[in-house]
Amino acid sequence: MTKVPSTVLDCDEALELLHEYLKQQLTPELAERVRAHIEMCRPCLSHSRFEASYLRMLEHKLKSITCPPESRERILTALHGELPLS
Ligand SMILES: [Zn+2]
Repeated sequence: MTKVPSTVLDCDEALELLHEYLKQQLTPELAERVRAHIEMCRPCLSHSRFEASYLRMLEHKLKSITCPPESRERILTALHGELPLS
């Protein structure tokens, strides 16, 4: 048995590939097969939507992590070429 199915994916296979599909890490051919399955399979479609929004949420979280205010202020001060007197 080969790992990559040659015809239509079943749900297990589609879900197994879903993460890589969403991160666009699949070959175009394989991605197309996952897409084809998702389009005709309701449960997998809703699952893929869930996964997609979860991934987006994670990305958003990573991006929204900022420096604590204190070090931000220090960086700003350093940028202006002066050190805090405290
Ligand atoms: Zn399915």
